[in-house]
Amino acid sequence: MIDAPLTERVLAAVDEDRDALLQAISQAVQIASVNPRYPGQSYDDVVGGEGQASRFMADVYRELGAEVDLFALEPGRENAVGVLRGSGGGRSLIYNGHVDVVPAEKRENWRHGDPFSGRIEAGCIWGRGATDMKAGLLAQAFAARALQRSGVQLGGDLILEAVVGEECMNNDIGVSATVGRGYRADAAVVSEPSTGSAPLAVMPASPGQLWFSVKVTGKPTHAANRGRTLHPAAEDEPPGVSAIDKGFIVYEALRRLEQEWAFAKRHPLYRRGQFTIMPGIVAGGTAGVEFPLFVPEFMQTEYLLWYPPDADAAAVTREIEAHIGHVAASDPWLREHPPEVRWRLHWPANAPAADAISAATCAAHERAAEGTQFAGAAEVAGFPAVDDASWLTEAGIPAISYGPGDLAVAHADDEFVRIDEVLCATRAFALLAMQWCGVRA
Ligand SMILES: [Zn+2]
Repeated sequence: MIDAPLTERVLAAVDEDRDALLQAISQAVQIASVNPRYPGQSYDDVVGGEGQASRFMADVYRELGAEVDLFALEPGRENAVGVLRGSGGGRSLIYNGHVDVVPAEKRENWRHGDPFSGRIEAGCIWGRGATDMKAGLLAQAFAARALQRSGVQLGGDLILEAVVGEECMNNDIGVSATVGRGYRADAAVVSEPSTGSAPLAVMPASPGQLWFSVKVTGKPTHAANRGRTLHPAAEDEPPGVSAIDKGFIVYEALRRLEQEWAFAKRHPLYRRGQFTIMPGIVAGGTAGVEFPLFVPEFMQTEYLLWYPPDADAAAVTREIEAHIGHVAASDPWLREHPPEVRWRLHWPANAPAADAISAATCAAHERAAEGTQFAGAAEVAGFPAVDDASWLTEAGIPAISYGPGDLAVAHADDEFVRIDEVLCATRAFALLAMQWCGVRA
Protein backbone atom coordinates (compact mmCIF):
# COMPACT_ATOMS: atom_id res chain seq x y z
CA MET A 1 0.00 0.00 0.00
CA ILE A 2 1.30 3.45 -0.88
CA ASP A 3 1.14 5.84 2.06
CA ALA A 4 -1.28 8.75 1.97
CA PRO A 5 1.23 11.64 2.03
CA LEU A 6 3.11 10.19 -0.96
CA THR A 7 -0.16 9.69 -2.85
CA GLU A 8 -1.09 13.32 -2.15
CA ARG A 9 2.32 14.54 -3.28
CA VAL A 10 2.11 12.63 -6.57
CA LEU A 11 -1.44 13.80 -7.29
CA ALA A 12 -0.39 17.38 -6.57
CA ALA A 13 2.56 16.94 -8.96
CA VAL A 14 0.15 15.92 -11.76
CA ASP A 15 -2.04 18.95 -11.11
CA GLU A 16 0.91 21.37 -10.99
CA ASP A 17 2.09 20.09 -14.38
CA ARG A 18 -1.35 20.60 -15.95
CA ASP A 19 -0.43 23.37 -18.38
CA ALA A 20 2.61 21.54 -19.71
CA LEU A 21 0.50 18.41 -20.21
CA LEU A 22 -2.19 20.27 -22.17
CA GLN A 23 0.44 22.03 -24.28
CA ALA A 24 2.11 18.71 -25.05
CA ILE A 25 -1.18 17.14 -26.17
CA SER A 26 -1.93 20.20 -28.29
CA GLN A 27 1.50 19.98 -29.94
CA ALA A 28 1.13 16.24 -30.54
CA VAL A 29 -2.28 16.78 -32.18
CA GLN A 30 -0.69 19.35 -34.51
CA ILE A 31 1.52 16.59 -35.93
CA ALA A 32 -0.62 15.05 -38.69
CA SER A 33 0.48 11.48 -38.04
CA VAL A 34 -1.99 9.88 -40.43
CA ASN A 35 -1.59 6.16 -41.02
CA PRO A 36 -0.31 5.96 -44.63
CA ARG A 37 -2.00 2.61 -45.21
CA TYR A 38 -5.46 3.97 -44.50
CA PRO A 39 -7.57 3.45 -47.65
CA GLY A 40 -8.09 6.27 -50.13
CA GLN A 41 -4.69 7.95 -49.80
CA SER A 42 -1.33 8.01 -51.50
CA TYR A 43 1.12 6.15 -49.23
CA ASP A 44 4.12 8.22 -50.33
CA ASP A 45 2.36 11.52 -49.69
CA VAL A 46 1.30 10.56 -46.19
CA VAL A 47 4.10 8.43 -44.74
CA GLY A 48 6.34 10.10 -42.15
CA GLY A 49 3.86 11.79 -39.82
CA GLU A 50 3.85 8.79 -37.51
CA GLY A 51 7.64 8.91 -37.20
CA GLN A 52 7.47 12.60 -36.38
CA ALA A 53 4.91 11.95 -33.63
CA SER A 54 7.04 9.14 -32.22
CA ARG A 55 10.09 11.42 -32.18
CA PHE A 56 8.00 13.94 -30.26
CA MET A 57 7.10 11.24 -27.73
CA ALA A 58 10.73 10.08 -27.57
CA ASP A 59 11.73 13.61 -26.53
CA VAL A 60 9.15 13.53 -23.75
CA TYR A 61 10.48 10.14 -22.60
CA ARG A 62 14.09 11.38 -22.78
CA GLU A 63 13.23 14.33 -20.55
CA LEU A 64 12.07 11.80 -17.96
CA GLY A 65 15.47 10.19 -17.97
CA ALA A 66 14.13 7.08 -19.70
CA GLU A 67 16.28 4.83 -21.87
CA VAL A 68 14.83 5.67 -25.27
CA ASP A 69 14.65 3.34 -28.26
CA LEU A 70 13.40 4.85 -31.52
CA PHE A 71 13.15 2.21 -34.24
CA ALA A 72 11.30 1.56 -37.50
CA LEU A 73 10.55 -1.59 -39.46
CA GLU A 74 9.21 0.54 -42.31
CA PRO A 75 10.90 3.85 -43.23
CA GLY A 76 9.23 6.90 -41.67
CA ARG A 77 7.20 4.77 -39.29
CA GLU A 78 9.26 4.87 -36.09
CA ASN A 79 8.05 3.51 -32.78
CA ALA A 80 9.26 5.11 -29.54
CA VAL A 81 9.89 3.15 -26.36
CA GLY A 82 11.04 4.73 -23.10
CA VAL A 83 12.14 2.44 -20.29
CA LEU A 84 12.22 3.71 -16.72
CA ARG A 85 14.29 1.09 -14.94
CA GLY A 86 12.96 0.03 -11.57
CA SER A 87 15.22 -0.49 -8.59
CA GLY A 88 14.24 -4.15 -8.59
CA GLY A 89 11.79 -6.37 -6.83
CA GLY A 90 8.54 -4.99 -8.28
CA ARG A 91 6.27 -6.02 -11.11
CA SER A 92 6.89 -4.47 -14.51
CA LEU A 93 4.27 -2.53 -16.46
CA ILE A 94 3.80 -1.38 -20.06
CA TYR A 95 1.94 1.83 -20.82
CA ASN A 96 1.06 1.66 -24.51
CA GLY A 97 -0.63 3.90 -27.05
CA HIS A 98 -0.57 4.45 -30.80
CA VAL A 99 0.62 7.61 -32.56
CA ASP A 100 -1.18 7.05 -35.86
CA VAL A 101 -4.49 8.72 -36.61
CA VAL A 102 -7.11 8.33 -39.31
CA PRO A 103 -7.35 10.93 -42.12
CA ALA A 104 -9.33 14.15 -41.77
CA GLU A 105 -10.10 15.25 -45.29
CA LYS A 106 -12.84 17.84 -45.05
CA ARG A 107 -11.38 20.92 -43.39
CA GLU A 108 -14.72 22.73 -43.61
CA ASN A 109 -16.29 20.19 -41.25
CA TRP A 110 -13.96 21.19 -38.43
CA ARG A 111 -14.87 24.10 -36.17
CA HIS A 112 -11.42 25.70 -36.34
CA GLY A 113 -11.09 25.15 -40.08
CA ASP A 114 -8.14 22.89 -39.36
CA PRO A 115 -8.41 19.22 -38.35
CA PHE A 116 -4.97 19.43 -36.70
CA SER A 117 -5.47 22.71 -34.80
CA GLY A 118 -4.76 21.30 -31.35
CA ARG A 119 -6.82 24.24 -30.08
CA ILE A 120 -7.43 24.32 -26.31
CA GLU A 121 -10.90 25.77 -25.83
CA ALA A 122 -14.09 25.23 -23.82
CA GLY A 123 -12.56 22.63 -21.51
CA CYS A 124 -11.37 20.48 -24.41
CA ILE A 125 -8.44 19.93 -26.75
CA TRP A 126 -9.59 19.81 -30.37
CA GLY A 127 -8.28 17.99 -33.40
CA ARG A 128 -7.80 14.67 -35.12
CA GLY A 129 -6.16 12.27 -32.70
CA ALA A 130 -7.06 14.22 -29.55
CA THR A 131 -9.23 11.38 -28.25
CA ASP A 132 -7.72 8.60 -30.37
CA MET A 133 -5.26 8.77 -28.82
CA LYS A 134 -2.64 11.42 -28.18
CA ALA A 135 -4.27 12.47 -24.90
CA GLY A 136 -3.86 8.92 -23.61
CA LEU A 137 -0.23 8.70 -24.72
CA LEU A 138 0.68 11.93 -22.97
CA ALA A 139 -1.38 11.12 -19.88
CA GLN A 140 0.80 8.02 -19.44
CA ALA A 141 4.04 9.94 -20.03
CA PHE A 142 3.03 12.79 -17.71
CA ALA A 143 2.09 10.28 -15.01
CA ALA A 144 5.72 9.14 -15.12
CA ARG A 145 6.78 12.81 -15.01
CA ALA A 146 4.76 13.34 -11.83
CA LEU A 147 6.48 10.35 -10.23
CA GLN A 148 9.86 11.73 -11.19
CA ARG A 149 9.01 15.21 -9.91
CA SER A 150 7.89 13.64 -6.63
CA GLY A 151 11.15 11.74 -6.26
CA VAL A 152 9.47 8.35 -6.60
CA GLN A 153 11.68 5.41 -7.58
CA LEU A 154 9.62 2.47 -8.80
CA GLY A 155 10.49 -1.12 -7.96
CA GLY A 156 9.58 -2.73 -11.30
CA ASP A 157 10.30 -1.31 -14.76
CA LEU A 158 7.81 1.08 -16.35
CA ILE A 159 7.90 0.84 -20.15
CA LEU A 160 6.31 3.69 -22.12
CA GLU A 161 5.40 2.87 -25.71
CA ALA A 162 4.25 5.04 -28.61
CA VAL A 163 3.63 2.79 -31.60
CA VAL A 164 2.56 3.11 -35.22
CA GLY A 165 0.15 1.26 -37.43
CA GLU A 166 -2.76 0.56 -35.10
CA GLU A 167 -5.49 2.02 -37.28
CA CYS A 168 -4.82 -0.43 -40.13
CA MET A 169 -3.79 -3.49 -38.19
CA ASN A 170 -0.10 -2.98 -39.09
CA ASN A 171 0.69 -4.38 -35.65
CA ASP A 172 3.65 -6.28 -37.12
CA ILE A 173 5.54 -2.97 -37.46
CA GLY A 174 3.98 -1.39 -34.35
CA VAL A 175 3.00 -3.01 -31.09
CA SER A 176 4.09 -6.52 -32.07
CA ALA A 177 7.47 -5.15 -33.16
CA THR A 178 8.04 -3.81 -29.63
CA VAL A 179 7.36 -7.29 -28.25
CA GLY A 180 9.69 -8.78 -30.87
CA ARG A 181 12.39 -6.36 -29.74
CA GLY A 182 12.11 -7.74 -26.22
CA TYR A 183 9.82 -5.27 -24.44
CA ARG A 184 7.71 -7.41 -22.17
CA ALA A 185 6.11 -6.84 -18.80
CA ASP A 186 3.86 -8.45 -16.21
CA ALA A 187 0.89 -6.42 -17.51
CA ALA A 188 0.01 -3.63 -19.92
CA VAL A 189 -2.51 -0.81 -20.05
CA VAL A 190 -3.43 0.63 -23.44
CA SER A 191 -4.70 4.20 -23.05
CA GLU A 192 -7.42 4.06 -25.71
CA PRO A 193 -10.54 6.13 -24.97
CA SER A 194 -12.47 3.87 -22.60
CA THR A 195 -15.93 5.30 -22.24
CA GLY A 196 -18.50 2.88 -20.88
CA SER A 197 -21.75 4.36 -19.61
CA ALA A 198 -19.45 7.17 -18.41
CA PRO A 199 -15.85 8.15 -19.19
CA LEU A 200 -12.79 6.32 -17.86
CA ALA A 201 -14.16 2.81 -17.51
CA VAL A 202 -11.71 -0.03 -16.97
CA MET A 203 -11.94 -2.34 -20.00
CA PRO A 204 -10.43 -5.79 -19.60
CA ALA A 205 -11.84 -7.27 -22.82
CA SER A 206 -12.54 -6.44 -26.43
CA PRO A 207 -14.47 -8.29 -29.12
CA GLY A 208 -12.88 -10.03 -32.05
CA GLN A 209 -13.32 -8.56 -35.51
CA LEU A 210 -13.65 -10.42 -38.79
CA TRP A 211 -13.98 -8.99 -42.27
CA PHE A 212 -15.44 -11.29 -44.88
CA SER A 213 -16.95 -11.03 -48.37
CA VAL A 214 -19.84 -12.94 -49.83
CA LYS A 215 -20.05 -13.08 -53.61
CA VAL A 216 -23.11 -14.37 -55.42
CA THR A 217 -23.03 -14.98 -59.16
CA GLY A 218 -26.01 -14.89 -61.51
CA LYS A 219 -26.55 -15.53 -65.19
CA PRO A 220 -26.42 -12.25 -67.11
CA THR A 221 -28.69 -11.54 -70.04
CA HIS A 222 -30.27 -8.53 -71.76
CA ALA A 223 -32.46 -6.50 -69.38
CA ALA A 224 -35.37 -7.02 -71.77
CA ASN A 225 -35.42 -10.64 -70.60
CA ARG A 226 -36.16 -9.67 -67.00
CA GLY A 227 -39.79 -10.77 -67.31
CA ARG A 228 -38.86 -14.14 -68.75
CA THR A 229 -36.23 -14.70 -66.04
CA LEU A 230 -38.89 -14.11 -63.36
CA HIS A 231 -41.80 -15.86 -65.05
CA PRO A 232 -40.39 -18.43 -67.45
CA ALA A 233 -42.79 -20.57 -69.40
CA ALA A 234 -43.13 -23.96 -67.74
CA GLU A 235 -41.04 -25.80 -70.31
CA ASP A 236 -38.33 -23.09 -70.63
CA GLU A 237 -35.03 -22.64 -68.92
CA PRO A 238 -35.05 -18.97 -67.69
CA PRO A 239 -32.75 -16.89 -69.92
CA GLY A 240 -31.03 -15.26 -66.97
CA VAL A 241 -30.73 -15.17 -63.20
CA SER A 242 -30.31 -11.94 -61.23
CA ALA A 243 -27.30 -12.10 -58.92
CA ILE A 244 -28.82 -9.20 -56.96
CA ASP A 245 -32.09 -11.02 -56.29
CA LYS A 246 -30.14 -14.11 -55.22
CA GLY A 247 -27.64 -12.03 -53.27
CA PHE A 248 -30.42 -10.49 -51.20
CA ILE A 249 -31.57 -13.96 -50.15
CA VAL A 250 -28.18 -14.39 -48.49
CA TYR A 251 -28.26 -10.81 -47.21
CA GLU A 252 -31.64 -11.35 -45.51
CA ALA A 253 -30.49 -14.62 -44.00
CA LEU A 254 -27.42 -13.00 -42.45
CA ARG A 255 -29.57 -10.12 -41.16
CA ARG A 256 -31.81 -12.69 -39.41
CA LEU A 257 -28.75 -14.37 -37.94
CA GLU A 258 -27.50 -10.98 -36.75
CA GLN A 259 -30.84 -10.45 -34.99
CA GLU A 260 -30.54 -13.86 -33.34
CA TRP A 261 -27.05 -13.01 -32.15
CA ALA A 262 -28.56 -10.39 -29.84
CA PHE A 263 -29.77 -13.38 -27.83
CA ALA A 264 -27.29 -16.08 -28.76
CA LYS A 265 -24.05 -14.11 -28.42
CA ARG A 266 -23.79 -12.58 -24.98
CA HIS A 267 -21.02 -11.48 -22.69
CA PRO A 268 -21.31 -10.09 -19.16
CA LEU A 269 -19.20 -6.99 -19.97
CA TYR A 270 -21.39 -5.96 -22.94
CA ARG A 271 -24.89 -4.75 -23.53
CA ARG A 272 -27.17 -7.10 -25.41
CA GLY A 273 -26.91 -6.79 -29.16
CA GLN A 274 -23.26 -5.70 -29.16
CA PHE A 275 -22.08 -8.56 -31.39
CA THR A 276 -23.12 -7.98 -34.96
CA ILE A 277 -22.67 -9.00 -38.60
CA MET A 278 -22.70 -5.67 -40.38
CA PRO A 279 -23.12 -5.46 -44.16
CA GLY A 280 -20.80 -2.50 -44.75
CA ILE A 281 -20.43 -2.39 -48.54
CA VAL A 282 -22.70 -3.78 -51.25
CA ALA A 283 -21.61 -3.87 -54.88
CA GLY A 284 -23.29 -5.54 -57.80
CA GLY A 285 -24.31 -5.47 -61.42
CA THR A 286 -22.40 -6.52 -64.46
CA ALA A 287 -18.67 -5.85 -64.43
CA GLY A 288 -17.75 -2.66 -66.31
CA VAL A 289 -21.33 -1.60 -67.06
CA GLU A 290 -22.68 1.46 -65.22
CA PHE A 291 -26.10 1.35 -66.87
CA PRO A 292 -28.64 -1.28 -65.73
CA LEU A 293 -28.80 -2.87 -69.15
CA PHE A 294 -28.24 -6.41 -67.99
CA VAL A 295 -29.78 -8.85 -65.60
CA PRO A 296 -26.94 -8.54 -63.08
CA GLU A 297 -24.00 -10.85 -63.10
CA PHE A 298 -22.76 -10.52 -59.51
CA MET A 299 -23.44 -9.15 -56.07
CA GLN A 300 -20.70 -8.83 -53.48
CA THR A 301 -21.22 -7.77 -49.89
CA GLU A 302 -18.44 -6.88 -47.47
CA TYR A 303 -19.23 -7.72 -43.86
CA LEU A 304 -17.67 -6.59 -40.62
CA LEU A 305 -18.44 -9.03 -37.86
CA TRP A 306 -17.87 -8.59 -34.09
CA TYR A 307 -17.76 -11.70 -31.93
CA PRO A 308 -17.64 -11.99 -28.12
CA PRO A 309 -14.26 -11.96 -26.35
CA ASP A 310 -14.69 -15.53 -25.13
CA ALA A 311 -15.88 -16.98 -28.45
CA ASP A 312 -13.69 -19.12 -30.67
CA ALA A 313 -12.98 -17.35 -33.97
CA ALA A 314 -12.81 -20.61 -35.92
CA ALA A 315 -16.21 -21.65 -34.58
CA VAL A 316 -17.65 -18.27 -35.60
CA THR A 317 -16.37 -18.61 -39.16
CA ARG A 318 -17.83 -22.14 -39.32
CA GLU A 319 -21.16 -20.83 -38.06
CA ILE A 320 -21.31 -18.17 -40.79
CA GLU A 321 -20.32 -20.60 -43.54
CA ALA A 322 -22.82 -23.20 -42.34
CA HIS A 323 -25.59 -20.58 -42.22
CA ILE A 324 -24.86 -19.41 -45.77
CA GLY A 325 -24.64 -23.04 -46.92
CA HIS A 326 -28.01 -23.77 -45.36
CA VAL A 327 -29.65 -20.84 -47.12
CA ALA A 328 -28.03 -21.75 -50.42
CA ALA A 329 -29.34 -25.31 -50.12
CA SER A 330 -32.91 -24.00 -50.04
CA ASP A 331 -32.64 -22.20 -53.40
CA PRO A 332 -32.24 -24.14 -56.69
CA TRP A 333 -29.86 -21.59 -58.26
CA LEU A 334 -27.72 -21.04 -55.16
CA ARG A 335 -27.56 -24.78 -54.61
CA GLU A 336 -25.88 -25.14 -58.02
CA HIS A 337 -23.91 -21.86 -57.73
CA PRO A 338 -22.94 -21.58 -54.07
CA PRO A 339 -22.03 -18.15 -52.69
CA GLU A 340 -18.31 -17.60 -52.43
CA VAL A 341 -17.20 -16.66 -48.91
CA ARG A 342 -13.79 -15.08 -48.45
CA TRP A 343 -12.27 -14.35 -45.03
CA ARG A 344 -10.19 -11.24 -45.43
CA LEU A 345 -9.04 -10.02 -42.04
CA HIS A 346 -9.05 -11.14 -38.44
CA TRP A 347 -8.30 -8.95 -35.44
CA PRO A 348 -8.38 -11.31 -32.45
CA ALA A 349 -10.48 -10.64 -29.38
CA ASN A 350 -8.87 -9.57 -26.15
CA ALA A 351 -9.77 -11.73 -23.18
CA PRO A 352 -6.76 -11.77 -20.89
CA ALA A 353 -6.49 -13.35 -17.47
CA ALA A 354 -6.03 -9.85 -16.11
CA ASP A 355 -7.81 -9.68 -12.78
CA ALA A 356 -4.77 -8.27 -10.99
CA ILE A 357 -4.11 -5.35 -13.35
CA SER A 358 -7.86 -4.67 -13.69
CA ALA A 359 -8.31 -4.50 -9.93
CA ALA A 360 -5.24 -2.29 -9.54
CA THR A 361 -6.50 0.06 -12.29
CA CYS A 362 -9.94 0.27 -10.66
CA ALA A 363 -8.35 1.15 -7.32
CA ALA A 364 -6.06 3.75 -8.89
CA HIS A 365 -8.96 5.30 -10.81
CA GLU A 366 -11.16 5.48 -7.74
CA ARG A 367 -8.48 7.25 -5.72
CA ALA A 368 -7.56 9.56 -8.61
CA ALA A 369 -11.20 10.50 -9.15
CA GLU A 370 -11.88 11.47 -5.52
CA GLY A 371 -13.27 14.98 -5.33
CA THR A 372 -13.88 15.15 -9.10
CA GLN A 373 -16.99 14.61 -11.22
CA PHE A 374 -15.73 11.04 -11.86
CA ALA A 375 -15.81 10.12 -8.16
CA GLY A 376 -17.00 6.66 -7.25
CA ALA A 377 -16.08 3.09 -8.05
CA ALA A 378 -14.66 2.49 -11.52
CA GLU A 379 -17.01 0.96 -14.04
CA VAL A 380 -15.74 -2.30 -15.53
CA ALA A 381 -16.97 -2.77 -19.11
CA GLY A 382 -15.96 -4.28 -22.42
CA PHE A 383 -14.13 -2.14 -24.99
CA PRO A 384 -16.55 -1.89 -27.94
CA ALA A 385 -13.86 -1.74 -30.65
CA VAL A 386 -10.52 -3.48 -31.15
CA ASP A 387 -7.16 -2.11 -30.09
CA ASP A 388 -3.53 -3.09 -29.58
CA ALA A 389 -4.34 -4.76 -26.25
CA SER A 390 -5.26 -7.88 -28.26
CA TRP A 391 -1.73 -8.22 -29.65
CA LEU A 392 -0.07 -7.68 -26.26
CA THR A 393 -2.31 -10.30 -24.66
CA GLU A 394 -1.65 -12.67 -27.54
CA ALA A 395 2.08 -12.24 -26.88
CA GLY A 396 1.55 -13.30 -23.26
CA ILE A 397 1.35 -9.84 -21.67
CA PRO A 398 -2.12 -9.42 -20.08
CA ALA A 399 -3.37 -6.11 -21.46
CA ILE A 400 -6.42 -4.00 -20.68
CA SER A 401 -7.67 -0.62 -21.92
CA TYR A 402 -8.18 2.51 -19.83
CA GLY A 403 -7.83 6.09 -20.97
CA PRO A 404 -9.36 9.52 -21.54
CA GLY A 405 -11.63 10.38 -24.45
CA ASP A 406 -14.74 9.07 -26.06
CA LEU A 407 -14.87 6.53 -28.86
CA ALA A 408 -17.98 8.34 -30.14
CA VAL A 409 -15.83 11.26 -31.35
CA ALA A 410 -12.88 9.14 -32.49
CA HIS A 411 -12.61 9.01 -36.31
CA ALA A 412 -15.34 11.73 -36.44
CA ASP A 413 -15.15 15.35 -37.57
CA ASP A 414 -14.51 17.80 -34.74
CA GLU A 415 -12.77 15.21 -32.59
CA PHE A 416 -11.92 16.46 -29.09
CA VAL A 417 -10.91 15.26 -25.66
CA ARG A 418 -12.11 16.70 -22.36
CA ILE A 419 -9.38 18.14 -20.17
CA ASP A 420 -10.92 16.93 -16.90
CA GLU A 421 -10.81 13.34 -18.19
CA VAL A 422 -7.18 13.75 -19.21
CA LEU A 423 -6.22 14.98 -15.75
CA CYS A 424 -8.10 12.21 -13.97
CA ALA A 425 -6.48 9.57 -16.21
CA THR A 426 -3.01 11.04 -15.65
CA ARG A 427 -3.55 10.93 -11.89
CA ALA A 428 -4.75 7.33 -12.15
CA PHE A 429 -1.77 6.27 -14.30
CA ALA A 430 0.62 7.75 -11.74
CA LEU A 431 -0.99 5.91 -8.83
CA LEU A 432 -1.31 2.68 -10.81
CA ALA A 433 2.41 2.63 -11.65
CA MET A 434 3.26 3.01 -7.95
CA GLN A 435 0.74 0.42 -6.88
CA TRP A 436 1.74 -2.11 -9.53
CA CYS A 437 5.50 -1.66 -9.75
CA GLY A 438 6.02 -0.89 -6.06
CA VAL A 439 7.93 2.04 -4.60
CA ARG A 440 11.34 1.91 -3.03
CA ALA A 441 10.96 3.14 0.55
ZN1 LIG B 1 -7.09 4.10 -31.26
